[in-house]
Amino acid sequence: MSAAVRRNGQKLFFRFSSMPELPEVEAIRRQVQQVVAGGLIEKVRVHRRDVVRDRSARRKGRLSVDHVGQHQVIESVDRRGKQLVVLFSSSGGMIIRLGMSGRITIEEGLNRHPVPPHRHLVWTITPPKSSQKQIKMSFIDPRRFGGVYLFDSVEDCQSRLLTGLGPEATSIRGNRLHDLLGGTRRSLKAALLDQSVLAGIGNIYADEALHRAGLHPARTGDSISRPESTRLAAAIRSTLRVAIEAGGSTLRDHILPDGSSGGFIKNHRVYGRGGFPCLGCQGPLEVLTIAARTTTFCPTCQH
Ligand SMILES: [Zn+2]
Repeated sequence: MSAAVRRNGQKLFFRFSSMPELPEVEAIRRQVQQVVAGGLIEKVRVHRRDVVRDRSARRKGRLSVDHVGQHQVIESVDRRGKQLVVLFSSSGGMIIRLGMSGRITIEEGLNRHPVPPHRHLVWTITPPKSSQKQIKMSFIDPRRFGGVYLFDSVEDCQSRLLTGLGPEATSIRGNRLHDLLGGTRRSLKAALLDQSVLAGIGNIYADEALHRAGLHPARTGDSISRPESTRLAAAIRSTLRVAIEAGGSTLRDHILPDGSSGGFIKNHRVYGRGGFPCLGCQGPLEVLTIAARTTTFCPTCQH
């Protein structure tokens, strides 16, 4: 997945290899919000109808461009879990899910660049300040696991598109986490990946938070004490906060021409470092498959 922003003729292009998680989506949200909030959508082009789920959740049939935002002012770009929530000033809006390979690009002015393939929707937006150039925001998703989901109102969005999502991982507290984990005999790793338990945690940050909290990923949820829950909640919050703040540098994990993964790994204590020394005890990190996902942890520091 990647995100590109062009500003003042300068092109910034970010790319990373794994599924976007909360910090990556939040970093994208901040850039998009900064550029498009308050802007008027002059025109929408839908190149692939089936990436858009209309208000009846259909991927087929007639789609009015007015429903995808044409003639609407963008009120805000928010985030819930790993989803972007674009609110129109009319109270309707759309959720953008990036899936495995989705990305959003924003380009200023006339688009003379080669049109990337898989550009499914393009919104032409006039920013609120007359001094700013018109921009084009595109949704690109080669594998099409992501999509654009339309809603009528905030209530419709909540009740239909955001149901079953647990509390935001960025603000989780120990007592709440203890309640959420206490009822499950699943592993901590599996519970953390479950979006109905906590919204926004994926494989990378589950491993990172468990290492910071000193908790073994295979421990069951109901074995966690209150002090351990408090430690884990603090580790989740701080891991995500640091990753969001480093958003630029994390996102700049472009795959280099030689196939290596740039500076991405240096931000992580465990993820992608199986066999390498633990930054806590210098012993080798181990890799297990837990909840069908590759899980890296320190057998000495995590109990
Ligand atoms: Zn260790």
